[in-house]
Amino acid sequence: MTPLPIVQHPDERLRRKATDLPLQRLADHEFQKFLDRMIETMFAAEGVGLAANQVGEPWNLAVVSTKDGPLVLINPKIIRRSLRKETSEEGCLSVPGVWGEVSRSILVKVTAYDRQEHKIDINAEGLFARIIQHEIDHLNGILIIDKAKNVREAGREKNNDL
Ligand code: ZN
Repeated sequence: MTPLPIVQHPDERLRRKATDLPLQRLADHEFQKFLDRMIETMFAAEGVGLAANQVGEPWNLAVVSTKDGPLVLINPKIIRRSLRKETSEEGCLSVPGVWGEVSRSILVKVTAYDRQEHKIDINAEGLFARIIQHEIDHLNGILIIDKAKNVREAGREKNNDL
């Protein structure tokens, strides 16, 4: 499989709010192949997360890299977030070469479906929580350049774009 092209800012598809995926689509073999391609695209780009609109699809879903392997989040929703926040530098595969400090909740509780249509509850913290918040921002049409401080442009010397 070849990686999918990644949509780059200022493409307006990055500004659209995602549409919830009808879960019956997950029974479609072609759709499962698309999810595999999203994962492959994330790894090929050396990213740690990728939202569907970053590959030009309107669906409310994202893939994230975890220490236990890639995780597909279908129709994810943050149902609780800690008031305590932490600021850290982030990059984005759709805004290459730009870095900025983004404040995020340290802990988030998320509900979603996995690719087998099982409902999942996730208690994420630290970098995992940051990645999920970054991807859910994408699914709401929000980019790091909307909220980052101390934005700098640089070469792609780091490999943890989201
Ligand atoms: Zn991003």
